[in-house]
Amino acid sequence: MRSISNYSLAVIATPRGFVNVQKKHIWQSTMFRRNRFSDFANHGGKLTAKTKSVEKTAHERYCSMMPESKRVFDRAANVLPGGVESNFRALEPFPFYATYADGSKLYDVDGHELIDYLLSQGAIMLGHRRREIIDAVHAQIEKGANTAIPTELCVKVANKIGSFVPSMQMVRFCNSGTEATMHALRLARGFTGKDKIAKPEGGYHGVHDYGLWSLWAPNEYMGDERRPNATPFSRGIPKAVGKTVVIFPFNDVEATYDILKKESKDLAAVITEPIMGNVGCLLPKDSYLKELRKICNELDVLLIFDEVITGLRMGRGGAQGLFKVRPDLTTMGKVLGGGFQLAAFGGSKRVMDELITQRKEWPTTTFHGGTYNAHPVSLAASLATMKILQDDRVYSGIERNSKALFGGLQDLCDDNHVRALVSRCRSMGHLYFDAEEITTARKANNTNWEKLGKWCMECLLQGVMFGHPKGEKMFLSAAHTKSDVEKSLEVADAGLKAIR
Ligand code: PMP
Repeated sequence: MRSISNYSLAVIATPRGFVNVQKKHIWQSTMFRRNRFSDFANHGGKLTAKTKSVEKTAHERYCSMMPESKRVFDRAANVLPGGVESNFRALEPFPFYATYADGSKLYDVDGHELIDYLLSQGAIMLGHRRREIIDAVHAQIEKGANTAIPTELCVKVANKIGSFVPSMQMVRFCNSGTEATMHALRLARGFTGKDKIAKPEGGYHGVHDYGLWSLWAPNEYMGDERRPNATPFSRGIPKAVGKTVVIFPFNDVEATYDILKKESKDLAAVITEPIMGNVGCLLPKDSYLKELRKICNELDVLLIFDEVITGLRMGRGGAQGLFKVRPDLTTMGKVLGGGFQLAAFGGSKRVMDELITQRKEWPTTTFHGGTYNAHPVSLAASLATMKILQDDRVYSGIERNSKALFGGLQDLCDDNHVRALVSRCRSMGHLYFDAEEITTARKANNTNWEKLGKWCMECLLQGVMFGHPKGEKMFLSAAHTKSDVEKSLEVADAGLKAIR
């Protein structure tokens, strides 16, 4: 296997490189330039002279190192908009394509080996190709695929979840975090008989129409920081949905209370990540989550913790275990499926029984369904994953490396006189450029994501994928070693020097 770092950094673009790609795929560039979830797009896409030259050099090197990915992209762009399967995966000048992953590494079609801190957007906790998970999946596949008939395996996984997360007395399964939050929100509406839901600015809860509000937009669309607007993140979402979505500022107890109180008569639920991963790694301030719990109690509104990222990652009990706040409903995904499609929502029997309660008036029940719900292959992967996570040493090992990586990153920023803040909780962390303290989503969104993208790209070119190469939060797995971390810090240092 070649390592990207084996390439000379002085390599100049091949004739098939940067210029051709830019011209040919100009429409993709503009399509994805609208927000920071795309490439080099923050601050209206304005680059300083310094970062501009870094970008060009990095792009040139990227093109010369990825000829096979370019060939795949040329075919992919004809059949997949942007050559990708999710807008998050778009990358300029073109994405690179993976072939396989093993342990802490990911390999691409050009044969590069990358230390992987993206980890399937946080879904991989034990490393790629963990033997126990593969064996469990193989054994399950031998019994057939999905039958859409309930299995005993499902009961085992539900019990295991309940033993790890006591608030999830009962669960229902689905396939993705999007489905889990969508169903949890409907359940909350059905249970309370109220129509509105509240979510924090900057919070991501999947791609359904109720979740894609006020993730990010240019500041002028977001409204007052303490009284944020409901701003759609996508075209195609009915304006009428926006009238059912209330936005509040995470970490601002007073403003949160005022906003929720005003809406409480119509408010079914508040949904929030306990740690906001979509804006990097924004931790709850002091007792914010406890206050939110109290507010929801007072206003008779259900509290939903979206633990799609934090579930099992922050510890077996998730972030609610860490912060000792018990929500009414919880959503889980990612780590739960051990790399396979599994998600769940759950809570007390009182609330979950709404799914089987027959009312007199029509519609009589709150509906949850899905052909692939509780897919046995995913359940097998999940059970194998949770069995391994029962061992405290797994978490303590990851914690050791996580401390070294994120602590090391902050030291490198300080030593290089780069103004940056590393925020981390357990095995998730983020590097905020041009920042000293991040307490709100607005502040987090207004840090220098463009610089983060530059740094990530520099590091990618040297064999370390610190989150998505256009700038993302990072995750660690049980497969990352001390030497992975040491190498990563060397690369991080060179990357910081390149973008300073
Ligand atoms: N909720 C949160 C907090 C997430 O981070 C995500 C995905 N990153 C989702 C929901 C949606 O999950 P999925 O991509 O599996 O639909």
